Amino acid sequence: MKCDVCGKKIETTFLNKIIGTVIRDEKGKKKTVCNECQKRYTTSEIRTKL
Ligand SMILES: [Zn+2]
Repeated sequence: MKCDVCGKKIETTFLNKIIGTVIRDEKGKKKTVCNECQKRYTTSEIRTKL
């Protein structure tokens, strides 16, 4: 799984949860965002980058 903002690989935990978050764009498509991008940008900033 890759971050849709920076393109880096997103690691998963042993429970198979991604280390990061999933947000939906305006079309309702799921986008994965790594922890670093989540910290660096607000959700609305991330939406403008997707
Ligand atoms: Zn990222």
